[in-house]
Amino acid sequence: MSKIIKKIGVLTSGGDSPGMNAAIRSVVRTCAYHNVECIGIYRGYQGMIEGDFKEMGPRSVNNIVNKGGTILKSARSMDFKTPDGRKRAHENLVNAGIDALVVIGGDGTFTGAEIFNNEFGYPVMGIPGTIDNDIFGTSHTLGYDTALNTVVEAIDKIRDTASSHNRLFFVEVMGRDAGHIALNAGIGAGAEEILIPEEDLGLERLLESLQKSKASGKSSSIVVVSEGDKIGKNVFELKEYVEENLPEYDVRVSVLGHMQRGGSPSCFDRVLASRLGVKAVESILEGKSNFMVGLYQDKVALTPLEQAIKGSSKIDEELLRVSDIMTT
Ligand code: ATP
Repeated sequence: MSKIIKKIGVLTSGGDSPGMNAAIRSVVRTCAYHNVECIGIYRGYQGMIEGDFKEMGPRSVNNIVNKGGTILKSARSMDFKTPDGRKRAHENLVNAGIDALVVIGGDGTFTGAEIFNNEFGYPVMGIPGTIDNDIFGTSHTLGYDTALNTVVEAIDKIRDTASSHNRLFFVEVMGRDAGHIALNAGIGAGAEEILIPEEDLGLERLLESLQKSKASGKSSSIVVVSEGDKIGKNVFELKEYVEENLPEYDVRVSVLGHMQRGGSPSCFDRVLASRLGVKAVESILEGKSNFMVGLYQDKVALTPLEQAIKGSSKIDEELLRVSDIMTT
């Protein structure tokens, strides 16, 4: 029989994303609802190793549902990758009487949680918090929807200046391994081309497409480029390449960078965070462990952490087709 859970720890780890605070709030309040103590762990796994803990009651999370970032801070901990670091973290949890953990982060965070669970049989539950939406087992990660809105808003503004000066803009967006942000925001903002890591468009086809676009009467263009695009050139090299080969184009580059991670979470992300937090805590109280809580076919569902880590989130083929048709 699994141990009765009286105290749950919660942490945020890896890159921050909008909606993490709403998830912390949900975990804290669900614990209070079920008369379970909740402990906030600062700076992810590093705070676990250093015993940086704080009791959290339902009022300690007032007024954070609308805030970006994470009040618990986030960190990338090299110490947690060592057996000694994890041993110290485990000792701290046991000494503080914390019976189970909710970790909010990306696949690295889940990898750490799974290793920790395997080593100590310690109950863990993951909530996917990353803007890249690159986690298997959930249609949406926390922060992804907000990031899409941020990117679309930025591209709308860039389009104003692009069309006033008849310019071509390469806009680089986040997504080292996954093109979800580029593809969705690109369609949403009406980009002429979208370059993503999952597809190698090739330089020749890019030039062809831009030439076609010019010939069809478009005077300005936006090309959205995912950080991890496979075309083999970074966004500044792309600019040079196009200027050399299509001198009629006046090309500019805009790298959106960290602004994509910030800002107040969208309503979608706040609701998702609230749902995932409730499910994470209630699953732990039912004796479940080593799962990620995600959104699958619009329902909150559990996926084994191992699958969430190893599986890849596929790009939607239908969206690729829609994007092709929209650039006609
Ligand atoms: P993002 O997708 O935003 O980068 P992430 O959770 O993938 O988020 P990482 O920096 O990869 O971010 O991982 C967060 C932390 O998880 C690491 O700093 C480390 O402490 C822990 N971690 C990652 N991989 C391992 C591992 N193999 N063993 C133990 N801990 C790990």
